[in-house]
Amino acid sequence: MSHLSFTVLPGDGIGPEVMEVALDVLKHVASKRKLTLNYTTHDVGGVGIDNHGKALPDSTLAACRSADAILFGSVGGPKWENLPPKEQPERAALLPLRKAFELYANIRPGLLYAELAQASPLKNERIPNGIDIVCIRELTGGIYFGLPKETRENGGDTMAIDTMVYKKSEIERIAEVAALTALSRGKRVCSVDKANVLETSVLWRKTVKDYFSKRHPQLELTHMYVDNAAMQLARDPNQFDVLFTENMFGDILSDEMAVICGSLGMLCSASLGALQNKLGKPFGLYEPAGGTAPDIAGKNIANPCAQVLSVAMMLRYSFGLEEEAVAIEQAVRSAVTGGMRTADIAFGGHSVGTQEMGVAILNKLKFD
Ligand code: NAD
Repeated sequence: MSHLSFTVLPGDGIGPEVMEVALDVLKHVASKRKLTLNYTTHDVGGVGIDNHGKALPDSTLAACRSADAILFGSVGGPKWENLPPKEQPERAALLPLRKAFELYANIRPGLLYAELAQASPLKNERIPNGIDIVCIRELTGGIYFGLPKETRENGGDTMAIDTMVYKKSEIERIAEVAALTALSRGKRVCSVDKANVLETSVLWRKTVKDYFSKRHPQLELTHMYVDNAAMQLARDPNQFDVLFTENMFGDILSDEMAVICGSLGMLCSASLGALQNKLGKPFGLYEPAGGTAPDIAGKNIANPCAQVLSVAMMLRYSFGLEEEAVAIEQAVRSAVTGGMRTADIAFGGHSVGTQEMGVAILNKLKFD
């Protein structure tokens, strides 16, 4: 019997509502597959500030350190918006978690079922089979972390500096994540940079080329400038299989990808770390792509699919349970394409609530 040790951080807004559904699905999987769930739930984000005085309470961080993975909801909301930027829930909870666990690889599937093509702002004839790509973003390097990072007075003017830094070793480890992802899919990788202008991108492109030719020559590798990649994503997203890029470009491109895939309620992501968990698998943080959706929080109308799909990613990456991950993904697909829709994907038609959607997913879970 496998023991799954993880920490649950529901956070704020719709976080606790969708997390409840995700845990129900996981409990069902565990009972069918004889898995033992060993988890504790902790405050993070706004609720961390309210109950403990900070967005990432020490007790929460300690619980994460003793687990093999983190299942994360989302944090933030109007109540905490006026705090100084450094104390805001997202910045004061997610960034320290990424740092503490060296979560350097963000894997975000861009999946839109053909049946939900209407949810995409793209013309439906451009995506007759929906969208199925993956965006991989480097998460702990680049301009968000490089030093110096400051604002200073300079000759009677005020100037601000951000510094973009990448090391070869950082580029190689994210290239490996992109390669492994492509190997499990269409075997095509597009590396995105700005090598016509930036030194870091010149190093990025050379390192990626060398790494793939040495380690993964069987994969098709292409390179694209980031401005072109932004256009191509909107023009024909399925020309990509795996897109991968540095931190800031990935921040922007992964959000563009989320938009063309329709509702945030359907998209999840995994952030994998340099650290291995007790099972020798990557320690990871798994979360929906969206935020706390204050406009719909507490109404039982949020779409729980993204959070449920984040459970599937956790089982796949941090616990090596591929069959169980696939069973959850198929159950979500089957519930949604079978007509069960929360309001965000109902296009004005009949919609169900968060809890009801969860029951529909449970009813579709099948194991051989
Ligand atoms: P948001 O993602 O919370 O909401 C944007 C829109 O998407 C809203 O209309 C919302 O109702 C909808 N939406 C999001 N998730 C949904 C779901 N599961 N089902 C149905 N509809 C869904 O973004 P926002 O409004 O810009 O941010 C709200 C708060 O969330 C802010 O405080 C922001 O800082 C925070 N936030 C947190 C994270 C995180 O924790 N990782 C990410 C993004 C935003």
